[in-house]
Amino acid sequence: MKAKDLKSFFEALAQCFEDEKERLGDLDAVLGDGDHGSSMAKGFAKAYEAIKDKDDEDFGNLFHHAGKALLTGIGGASGPLFAMVLLELGKASLGQTELSSAALKAGLAGAAAAVQRLGKAQAGDKTMLDVLLPVSEAISPNMTINEALELTAKVAHDSAIQTSAMTAKKGRAQYVQGAGLGHPDPGATSLALFFQVFNQSCKR
Ligand code: ADP
Ligand code: MG
Repeated sequence: MKAKDLKSFFEALAQCFEDEKERLGDLDAVLGDGDHGSSMAKGFAKAYEAIKDKDDEDFGNLFHHAGKALLTGIGGASGPLFAMVLLELGKASLGQTELSSAALKAGLAGAAAAVQRLGKAQAGDKTMLDVLLPVSEAISPNMTINEALELTAKVAHDSAIQTSAMTAKKGRAQYVQGAGLGHPDPGATSLALFFQVFNQSCKR
């Protein structure tokens, strides 16, 4: 996977969150305040804008610029938390012009730690962490990047679905009737989409 593939990934991601805006907003309307779909669409549009014309082959720099755009571009809980994912992927891949699965694993582990530090959630609290933790643990540094991304997409998809059976201990969902039981967590669902598009873009 090269820098141009990363730009196509962010272009596809911006399109994906635009297409899924309503569904994610509806999910967040049940579990929170309904802004999650529009936040993701706005944030990832800005992330793509931030890198699309950058003449830079370094994955670390590109992820960093995209993460910064997300951090400043959207509010709510998920803006800074999703930004952490990109910023940590950037730290782990700094200096790489071709993304390795070792950097991917290190970046996702760093992201899980940063999200935990910021949001104070644990595994099973029904947040995006319930996708991030299993995904970072599933991949191994000696896989090819294609194998690693394929696995992240699958694990993220299954893990997001499993959040339906959880009751929320963090975020707005903990205050709604039933703490969201029976509905998937919006942030976990968005993160699964992120990995699905990542995997698809890498194969093109
Ligand atoms: P807000 O809750 O501020 O309206 P969003 O609706 O955009 O923000 O995002 C909600 C998502 O953020 C949740 O579905 C959950 O995945 C994630 N989230 C909320 N609080 C936390 C937390 N403390 N730790 C990890 N993730 C969290
Ligand atoms: Mg919300």
